[in-house]
Amino acid sequence: MVIVGFIIGTVLGSFVEAVSNRLIKQTSILGRSYCEKCRKTLAWYDLFPVVSYLLLKGRCRYCQKKIPRQALIVEAGMGLAVALLFALTAPRFEMLVNFNQQTLLLGLELFFKLFVVSILAIVFLVDLRTGYIFDKVTYPAVALSGLFLIISTAAKSWFFYQDSLSSSLGKYFLPPYSNYVTDIIQRMWLAVGWSFLSAVALALIFVLLILITRGKGMGWGDVKYVLFLGLALGFPNNLVGIFLAFFLGAIVSVFLIAFGKKHFGQTIPFGPFLSLGAYLALLFGPQVLNSYLSSFKLGY
Ligand SMILES: [Zn+2]
Repeated sequence: MVIVGFIIGTVLGSFVEAVSNRLIKQTSILGRSYCEKCRKTLAWYDLFPVVSYLLLKGRCRYCQKKIPRQALIVEAGMGLAVALLFALTAPRFEMLVNFNQQTLLLGLELFFKLFVVSILAIVFLVDLRTGYIFDKVTYPAVALSGLFLIISTAAKSWFFYQDSLSSSLGKYFLPPYSNYVTDIIQRMWLAVGWSFLSAVALALIFVLLILITRGKGMGWGDVKYVLFLGLALGFPNNLVGIFLAFFLGAIVSVFLIAFGKKHFGQTIPFGPFLSLGAYLALLFGPQVLNSYLSSFKLGY
């Protein structure tokens, strides 16, 4: 799964690199990949992440101009990031092969994580280079993560209910015998409610920060991005992610000032720190989530 993760990561990396370049240049996100210098559409055999770069020795096949080294760094970096994510959070390969409802949910979750990591990387790169977090990225991301929360919980609670109905003793965990199953389903939806509520609360805290610092520290892009992170990480993992972002931001700021790269009061974009904090929360949060989910399994 780690090797699969690395390969998927490099593919996502080349996608992330292309999207962030197009966002920065304000060109259309859709359409086939082309050389940034000569604008020639690339052939399919030039689209293998990392491998194509190395085979072409970092130069365009058509105009021989140098492909920015950032392309290689982003592809390899995303490869490592996704490999690590898979190593720590992905279900074992055998579990995905034996297809059932559980693997459907795990697969869905894995897909969503890949989507989240891609958004984190895009915001990291674009905010670092331009100081902006684009609505074009955050709006669809907020919508999709909200939708995912609802759909995955609907599937989870439906499967759980069906499992209870179909097992021999399961009906004794349902009304009128007991409220065990319904209580658990209720808890699942309560967790969704908490995620939405905490996401909005976190976004409001960032609005407050804008008002307090008069727009010098955070921007409205950060507010929308935090709304996405709040939904994507879910409660209480989203609190962990935001806390880590502030922690990392403080450490890096101190270093930048100490080494004279920045002076006190000068701002640095916060999006990259939010991305890093969220990534760390994504890596280490799921263990908590998994033990939480396994507590839902009926104990008979
Ligand atoms: Zn070219």
